[in-house]
Amino acid sequence: MSDNTFQASPIALAAPLPRRSRQARVVWRNNVVTVGGDAPVRVQSMTNTDTVDAVETAIQVRQLAQAGSEMVRITVNTPEAAAAVPYIREQLDRMGEYVPLVGDFHYNGHRLLTDYPACAEALSKYRINPGNVGKGEKKDKQFGQMIEIAAKYDKAVRIGVNWGSLDQEIMAELMDANSRRAQPWETRQVMYEALITSAITSAELAQSIGLNPDNIILSCKVSGVQDLIAVYRELARRCDYALHLGLTEAGMGAKGTVASTAALAVLLQEGIGDTIRVSLTPQPGEARTQEVVVASEILQSLGLRVFVPSVTACPGCGRTTSTTFQELAKQIDDYLRGQMPVWRMKYPGVEAMKVAVMGCIVNGPGESKHADIGISLPGNGEAPAAPVFIDGEKAMTLRGEGIAQEFQGIVESYVQRRWGAGA
Ligand code: SF4
Repeated sequence: MSDNTFQASPIALAAPLPRRSRQARVVWRNNVVTVGGDAPVRVQSMTNTDTVDAVETAIQVRQLAQAGSEMVRITVNTPEAAAAVPYIREQLDRMGEYVPLVGDFHYNGHRLLTDYPACAEALSKYRINPGNVGKGEKKDKQFGQMIEIAAKYDKAVRIGVNWGSLDQEIMAELMDANSRRAQPWETRQVMYEALITSAITSAELAQSIGLNPDNIILSCKVSGVQDLIAVYRELARRCDYALHLGLTEAGMGAKGTVASTAALAVLLQEGIGDTIRVSLTPQPGEARTQEVVVASEILQSLGLRVFVPSVTACPGCGRTTSTTFQELAKQIDDYLRGQMPVWRMKYPGVEAMKVAVMGCIVNGPGESKHADIGISLPGNGEAPAAPVFIDGEKAMTLRGEGIAQEFQGIVESYVQRRWGAGA
């Protein structure tokens, strides 16, 4: 190849743009979860247990935290739920689980936070929906009451607007103004404006009442991918509060996962979004933690965070008609995820490990050599042998029935050797 074959300048690297928001602190004991600024994009989730059942709720909070949720939101909708919050906190503390709890308030949050000061203290952050704090004159008064309590206890607040519960007074005002325009906007565009106006005017009101602007996090959730992108681009342009990002009511299974990923990936790549939640409806029998897995994978795929060792697996094709390869890929993935709560403490840095599980000789050895540790299974018609590659070199060949178990053992000793104490 002559020198002319190459272009004069290299192809630009792709990377998410830097974020530019203020930094909020969500705190419980020594666990300080920073949101925004130079903090990593945070993963959060929400329980679906009855908050009144303190034990059940604490168990689910812990499961979500262990799966990687850095804050967990719980519904606080009744006096009984507010009374249960300190007990949930206590249960978690007893288990050594210091994940911050976020209280989700609608309609009666002002009364619950006032009547249950232990609840107000046990929570690390309040979610307030300005569309659901009251109507008319009561609206600002009840909103102000919650903000005063947040300021008193130095708690972070998410002002969370949702198009399903949009402030109808703001919407009506903007629709009136729109009807007077020579060329009226589309109703959808008026709705975007109403969402953003509701969030930003509420944040300004909170600041005027005395809430530290660094403690304010905003969200404007909608359920359409293009709507979410349009709204958040504009929201990020108009303010520097930390932003909570998520597609509301994303749905279940592949639809919910893909829609959330499509929307969040575009915005995160543009440097928009400081904490994310993937709102998946669990399928029957599916763990609530699935939404945490999806959120973490979105951030890891974009190169924004590293949570768990990644498994590169080929899709399989006519060269690999047995299920051995699929089973091994799943077993290894489940095994690595299952180990992470312990490995995270025991083997710092292990989350960056790359494992390859490949179906045949076509790309198997090549992909396995790119990974820290990889296995290339025999495809149809190939000799029944599975070469294992460690740090780019062929280290051994596995044969027979116990390949999965043996490979798992090889991964375990590789992890101990590379990331264990004294490595
Ligand atoms: S590595 Fe082999 S089995 Fe996997 S997709 Fe490629 S050709 Fe098919």
